[in-house]
Amino acid sequence: MKVLVDVGGCVASLNPAQRHVCGMDVEREVLKWALKNAFDHGGLADVKAVMSKVMGAHPELRSKAAEVKKIVVEKVEQVNSMSVEEQASLLAEIAPELTRKHEVREARRELPELPQAEEGRVVTRLPPEPSGYMHLGHALAGLINEYYARRYGGKLWLRFEDTNPRKVRPIYYESFRQGYRWLGIEWDFEKNNSDDMELFYHHAKTLLEKGLLYPCFCTAEEMHRQRQTMTACRDRETEPGRALELWDKAVSGGFREGEISFRLKGYVDSPNTALRDPVLFRIVDYPHPLKGRDYSLWPTYDFAAAVEDAVCGVTHVLRSSEFAFRDELQNLIRQHLGLKNPVYVEFARFEFKGTPTSKRVIRELIEKGFVGGWDDPRLSTIDAVRRRGIRPEAIREFTTTYAGVSYAKKEYDWSLLYSINRKFLDASSRRLFFVPEPVKLHLENLDAVVVEAPFHPTQNLGTRKIKVSKTVYVPGRDIKALKPGEIFRCKYLANIRISSVEDDVVYGEVVGREPSPGVRIVQWVPEEAVRVRVFRYGSLLRSDGSFNVEGVEVIDGLGEKSVKEVGYREVVQFERFGFCIRDSGENLEFIYCHD
Ligand SMILES: [Zn+2]
Repeated sequence: MKVLVDVGGCVASLNPAQRHVCGMDVEREVLKWALKNAFDHGGLADVKAVMSKVMGAHPELRSKAAEVKKIVVEKVEQVNSMSVEEQASLLAEIAPELTRKHEVREARRELPELPQAEEGRVVTRLPPEPSGYMHLGHALAGLINEYYARRYGGKLWLRFEDTNPRKVRPIYYESFRQGYRWLGIEWDFEKNNSDDMELFYHHAKTLLEKGLLYPCFCTAEEMHRQRQTMTACRDRETEPGRALELWDKAVSGGFREGEISFRLKGYVDSPNTALRDPVLFRIVDYPHPLKGRDYSLWPTYDFAAAVEDAVCGVTHVLRSSEFAFRDELQNLIRQHLGLKNPVYVEFARFEFKGTPTSKRVIRELIEKGFVGGWDDPRLSTIDAVRRRGIRPEAIREFTTTYAGVSYAKKEYDWSLLYSINRKFLDASSRRLFFVPEPVKLHLENLDAVVVEAPFHPTQNLGTRKIKVSKTVYVPGRDIKALKPGEIFRCKYLANIRISSVEDDVVYGEVVGREPSPGVRIVQWVPEEAVRVRVFRYGSLLRSDGSFNVEGVEVIDGLGEKSVKEVGYREVVQFERFGFCIRDSGENLEFIYCHD
């Protein structure tokens, strides 16, 4: 960018051959504003608008308006014949300060108010069951709960729903803690339901004494049949004294798994099946990861959650709609125990297209070798989305923008999350050259030069120096589209005319160093380049639900030397290719995030 000199007293003269005024390159100046105008308006510059920009910036040109206008018409025509991508690229090269689009401040979408919420008194909770890896659904639920706790100056619990020893694993507790931390969620208190077994027993006894909890010796099939036919278990009316005896025997290990359970005296003919005498305690003969074999009579999810929500003082239960039918049951349990009920608020269960969330389905895909593991970038676990370069800020913004609070189940397209993620990556990611399908280009008249190129067109992320002499590599796809005699530009380096195309090398000559419009701009690497491999993951499932066997594309190419300095898990933008995240500490392996 040339520095404009003070034009005081300068006589503007526009010799068509020269077109310089007082040291200012008018053509370049006009080109800059034409590109900017096109950039702001979907690729089409307008003569009038560009004219007024140029005149506004350079009043000294007013006396030469007619001549300037000719240049404007010429440049606007050139610019409008370029692709949007070429326009943006050229603008970034000649006037990076103009590439920041005029930001339209979106009205920040707020989630709706919580019913019956009092400032400073709202308590919400993150209630993960540590029986699988944390996924985006948990993230969304967690962010909504945190959002409301903070909005009302309240408190947030992290509470592990871990009363099924057969399902919980130590590794999953940590998966959730790490996942929530990564999202920037801070909780005020933490506990495990399994720490409160004595409390659960205490409340169970209250129900037994009231005749509201009864021992049942039915098999699972018998219970199922009773619920279907709305009939009662023969032991429903067991008198409390006998029920308490059996309870004590069950607590002290006097029954084997499956022999006895304790059921709530609910409503066998309720339209809500959850109320048809559900099991609240059952024997699980399996060591608990935190409690070992201290207990074998375990509360079910509904009983533990009902008690704990009251014990933790939870005022609002924000949970996805698939659990709605259980609210009534949990309220009934608390009502029997004289505990306070929270307010229930639903939000939609959300899923992403082509991405299974069922643990069973994912486990099967892993066992069959279709996916690499729980962090396979095609899955929606937190480990997977981190691997594919999704920023936690993007998930947060996605939640408040799209998730909202509503009933319907929603299936989102990944592109929505990508479009938010792009905003965060765009400002912070270094731009580097990666050349897929590299083709050797020999430039006889290029002397050894060092090109200094910025890592980012608008942000101050530093520069790198690229040493070049005579040979560069350019993308095969671009070079194959060009014929001898045609001109293209190696970004930051030079304009090149193709002389001839041989089998494994293309010959060209440098015809200028300054950027000019209407010329295809490509990325390149010098002879001293490094091998880079990019994995591009597609959708895991097809629209019919079957596994997409062509889900991973491996793209080999060459990168400029600076690629070696990209940190593990750092996201960079390979120019004209897309955002990629380094996936290995040792090898130059990247995962394609999105464009
Ligand atoms: Zn029974």
